[in-house]
Amino acid sequence: MQTPYYLLEEEKLEYNLQLLDYIQKQSGARILLALKGFAFSGSADLVSKYLQGCCASGLYEAKYAKELFKKEVHTYSPAFKEEEIDEILSLSNHIVFNSFSQLKKYKKKAKEVKVSIGLRINPEVSASPKEIYNPCGVYSRLGITKKNFKDDELADVEGFHFHALCEQGADELEEVIKAFEEKFGEYFKNLKWINFGGGHHITKEGYNVEKLMRLIKEFKQKYDVEVYLEPGEAVGWQSGVLVATVLDIVENGMKIAILDISAEAHMPDTIIMPYRSEVRGAKEAGVLSHTYRLAGNTCLAGDIIGDYSFEEPLKIGDKVLFEDQIHYTIVKNTTFNGIKLPNLLLKRKNGDIEVVKEFGYEEYKRRN
Ligand SMILES: *Cc1c(COP(=O)(O)O)cnc(C)c1O
Repeated sequence: MQTPYYLLEEEKLEYNLQLLDYIQKQSGARILLALKGFAFSGSADLVSKYLQGCCASGLYEAKYAKELFKKEVHTYSPAFKEEEIDEILSLSNHIVFNSFSQLKKYKKKAKEVKVSIGLRINPEVSASPKEIYNPCGVYSRLGITKKNFKDDELADVEGFHFHALCEQGADELEEVIKAFEEKFGEYFKNLKWINFGGGHHITKEGYNVEKLMRLIKEFKQKYDVEVYLEPGEAVGWQSGVLVATVLDIVENGMKIAILDISAEAHMPDTIIMPYRSEVRGAKEAGVLSHTYRLAGNTCLAGDIIGDYSFEEPLKIGDKVLFEDQIHYTIVKNTTFNGIKLPNLLLKRKNGDIEVVKEFGYEEYKRRN
């Protein structure tokens, strides 16, 4: 198989989906896939078998959700455009507005087509590890703060939505819920649903699933509302690899392996988070006998994936497998510097491997 490619393993994805489904059944929560983090057309049917649908951040994700997943579509956007709102409403079950001005502007249309209206709230607590991924940071544009809340404009609002977490546990969720209740709890009695957003690291080993289910059950009982969760990362978590080939090895103070992928174009969180991907068979630099800097095949100096050590020397032509590369990678890919987009491959449960998408020069030409 020609590299580069992402290989999603159905069996691993289904393991995540089954855990999420268990939570739905035990707690009564309804779980949606956040397409922002994980969109892989070849796995839509499998996701639809377990989850209630998708949450979308605008017209294109809403369309994709409707076409491929054929279940519920919940759309939130920091701001909706006039020329898109009718189509978005025609595709959506829930629509979540980010401000009272957006609510005012579009609520009549939403009511006419019976789309359930919600507001995104900023509970102003979050322990998000990185500011770029902190929806409740200073000057955040995401959600309505207590200060900007207008309790005389809630007439048609059926739900509240918050999204305050990023790769976090049930303890952090508990803190957010507490602040959310303290600030906005008096309005819950008139609502039909509350959406707890994403950022729940549910499928990561050690996540306190029992506590999550207890929090949901207690909340549902107390306020008599539907509770939604919309994880992205937790759905695609550890469900596949990005496979690259060593093109050359150069030396400048250390050995540097040039791969046929790019950190910038294919795994941007290695640069912006920054985050370190695991490499199969490799350890931290200096641990095993042969250390290399793994770097991308673009002309960006900073296109560096990281330093890793291997038992055996790397050779030109060797394959390098980056673990857990299915979420927040494919959805962010670019054709920067004319580098090839990795193909999308799917490993079925019976072991068959299917090519879901092949990308070539056309992608670059069409976009530039
Ligand atoms: C990003 C995002 C999600 C998904 O977050 P994960 O960290 O991938 O679980 C859910 N809802 C909203 C509004 C988001 O912006």
